Parts: sequence; structure tokens; C-alpha cells
Amino acid sequence: MTATNCLDTSASDAEDVCRVCGCTDLNGCPGGCSWIVRAGAESLCTACIDHATEEELDAFDAEQEEDDD
Ligand SMILES: [Zn+2]
Ligand SMILES: [Zn+2]
Repeated sequence: MTATNCLDTSASDAEDVCRVCGCTDLNGCPGGCSWIVRAGAESLCTACIDHATEEELDAFDAEQEEDDD
């Protein structure tokens, strides 16, 4: 038997987790943050924007522009 020792059957392995600070949808940064990149364990939140690559920032900017009021 090679089953992994996974007790939590409800856990999703696709949960977004900030790769820098480790925050999640349910457990965000103090003061709040949103996702620059949603990529599972490689996600990045706005609190860690200094760690974003130029590519990621470009994509994030484009997304923000769509979101005007
Ligand atoms: Zn973060
Ligand atoms: Zn965060």
C-alpha cells in the first residue's frame, strides 16, 4: 500500500497560497490583500507585490484596468 497519510478528505490541493507570506483566501494578510497571481502554491498576494516579477505585474495591471467603476 502506498496511500498517502491524508486525514483531511475535504482539503483541496488547489488552494491558493501566497508563495512569500503563505496567506490564503481564508487566512489573508493583516489589513487585507488580494491575489496578484492565483497559481496554487505559487500564488502571490498584493502584500508581497515587491516579490512579483515584471510579467506578473503586467498581468495584474491589466486585470485592474478592467475593474474600473
Ligand atoms: Zn503574500
Ligand atoms: Zn496576503
